[in-house]
Amino acid sequence: MTRGCTRRCPFCVVYVIEPEYIKYIPLKQQIAKVNEKYGEKKDLLLLDNNIIDEIKDIGFHNGAKLNDRKRHVDFNQGIDLRLLTKGRMKKLAEIPVKPLRIAFDRYGLKDSYVKVIRLAAECGIKYLSNYMMILPKNFI
Ligand code: SF4
Repeated sequence: MTRGCTRRCPFCVVYVIEPEYIKYIPLKQQIAKVNEKYGEKKDLLLLDNNIIDEIKDIGFHNGAKLNDRKRHVDFNQGIDLRLLTKGRMKKLAEIPVKPLRIAFDRYGLKDSYVKVIRLAAECGIKYLSNYMMILPKNFI
């Protein structure tokens, strides 16, 4: 996982709360600690999205089940659509992501937003959602 963000959108507090950007935090140790304390969970809810292979390694691959129930992965934050290349979308499609939440932070990103939605569908991601900022005119 990563922590923080390299961008500084004017409406966002991430850089205030997490001023230092940390490029990699291992997931396996984190999950082992949680499993030991609370027992294994059916679903994986994440606040980050840079860890697909680790997610598969800990049992959240496409078609995975726990106690006969399908497992899902939810990146609870909106994924930055400016970083969603075809290669990355294909990688995301390797896990049972439900839903794929895409951040639609500015109307100027509309064309890119439409493009990544189509790309997600093309890569086989069926469940989509998005965060949309609604702010007073001239806020940004
Ligand atoms: S809105 Fe998203 S991209 Fe912008 S600073 Fe916050 S976390 Fe980073």
